[in-house]
Amino acid sequence: MSLEPEGSNRLLRDVLARPGNETCADCGNPEPDWASLTLGVFVCQACSLLHRSIPHISRVKSVQDTWDASEVELMATTGNNAAKAKYEQTVPAFYYRPTHSDCKMLREQWIRAKYERNEFEFIEKQEPYSAGYRDGFLWKRGRDNGQFLSRKFILSEREGALKYFNKQDARDPKALMKIETLNATFQPAKIGNPCGLQITYLKDNSTRNIFVYHSDAKEMVDWFNAIRAARFHYLQVAFPGASDEELVPKLTRNFMKEGFMEKTGPKHTEGFKKRWFTMDDRRLMYFKDPLDAYARGEVFIGSKENSYTVLSGLPSSTQGHHWNHGITIVTPDRKFLFACETEAEQRDWIAAFQRVINRPMRPQEYAVEAHFKHKP
Ligand SMILES: [Zn+2]
Repeated sequence: MSLEPEGSNRLLRDVLARPGNETCADCGNPEPDWASLTLGVFVCQACSLLHRSIPHISRVKSVQDTWDASEVELMATTGNNAAKAKYEQTVPAFYYRPTHSDCKMLREQWIRAKYERNEFEFIEKQEPYSAGYRDGFLWKRGRDNGQFLSRKFILSEREGALKYFNKQDARDPKALMKIETLNATFQPAKIGNPCGLQITYLKDNSTRNIFVYHSDAKEMVDWFNAIRAARFHYLQVAFPGASDEELVPKLTRNFMKEGFMEKTGPKHTEGFKKRWFTMDDRRLMYFKDPLDAYARGEVFIGSKENSYTVLSGLPSSTQGHHWNHGITIVTPDRKFLFACETEAEQRDWIAAFQRVINRPMRPQEYAVEAHFKHKP
């Protein structure tokens, strides 16, 4: 029996409505409108572009095109749930599954890992990030001159640390970053490299940044997941009763917001200076340059129950020239005055501050707040 194309497209819509097919197989975005005829999955347009980079594995077609009966039949017999059961059968709990808002490199490597390298069908292919130890070279941005130089890195779950060495034969690392406070987040635009990774850690309760990349995208994503695996192992030991679902969101985090604002000092008479701000959960850090290794200062943002408030605008007594769109953050100790260049920036920053202020503080966050208060 052969169907008219119109009938086939009606059947295709029925297949699209089946459980699992209502979101993109690769990034979870709703209402996918492309399909891979070779893999039998429905994907969003952004992911369909990445499938085009593996034409030997995936051939994509828009659901708006004209379909014939055999193509619809193929999609009906596979679909997103069946493909997931095959291509994602052994994804480790710590492994980062990109979403629609992640950078292109991360989404492309997830697609290649699943369909091209079949990494989650053969557990031995996961050794680069699940062995508990990893060493190799990364390009690291120099603190003073901004030049990227090749540095040896060692990640050791047993030692609970990520280390890097300035000289290849050096015995002592240039920096030892404890896995306990380690975070990693891809920052391609800020670093100026599609594989740019920002690694942060705490030293004496202050944030330190390093910026690295690898010219091979798979290697960089393997480093990222190796860091997540080490964090997972650390947290499993630190919180023995916790479930995977509780621990996985704590492995790495993206910043809530970043961008330039102007700020003034504690007396509010020092004049406004332009600074790069990073909102990392409850830590608001500011830097002279977006790629600085150390923050010039950090502000703890608590919750409304603890007398933290964010207000639009600046006190009428505010002096000096500054950008037009002010924000006042009231903390138990003092007021912080910021100015944004545009109304949209002001709105986004206020929304970011509001999100953390509206969230009640967890017990361990009181300890962090106390650390901030005892800073000189
Ligand atoms: Zn997608």
